Amino acid sequence: MREEKIARLHGTDGKLEKIIFEDGHEISRTGGFVTTELYQGNQFGASLGCALNENDGIIVDTLGKTNINGVFAAGDTSFSGPSQLIIAASEGVRAAAGVNSELTMEEF
Ligand SMILES: Cc1cc2nc3c(=O)[nH]c(=O)nc-3n(C[C@H](O)[C@H](O)[C@H](O)COP(=O)(O)OP(=O)(O)OC[C@H]3O[C@@H](n4cnc5c(N)ncnc54)[C@H](O)[C@@H]3O)c2cc1C
Repeated sequence: MREEKIARLHGTDGKLEKIIFEDGHEISRTGGFVTTELYQGNQFGASLGCALNENDGIIVDTLGKTNINGVFAAGDTSFSGPSQLIIAASEGVRAAAGVNSELTMEEF
């Protein structure tokens, strides 16, 4: 394992060929993995006054209900754990059930 700082990646035609470290040392590579930092890109919930968690995701109950009456959230916007399609889809179904049940209970 190498822990020196990378100075730059070198390649041609968009294909990686080598990694060049700050000390000038080079190693040949044709690929690699990077980790990305996730942050909440959408401030819509905050603008509605929704309470946010430490990841700036909208805090919801198990059926997607927020602290603002009539506002439900699901998916990455209520991010609190791994950002995955299947989790977003599942939360979407829960929120739909939450909206449905609230409308059903509403007195007209
Ligand atoms: C680089 C990357 C790689 C990923 N790889 C994987 C993977 O391999 N497997 C996996 O399961 N998940 C992966 N994910 C995560 C997955 O993409 C998300 O968890 C999922 O798309 C969340 O779905 P969503 O519907 O909550 O949000 P989104 O898919 O982000 O949909 C939100 C939509 O709302 C729209 N929108 C935003 N603001 C407004 C507004 N004010 N008015 C109207 N529309 C608006 C956006 O344009 C967007 O179309 C990856 C995510 C990224 C960024």
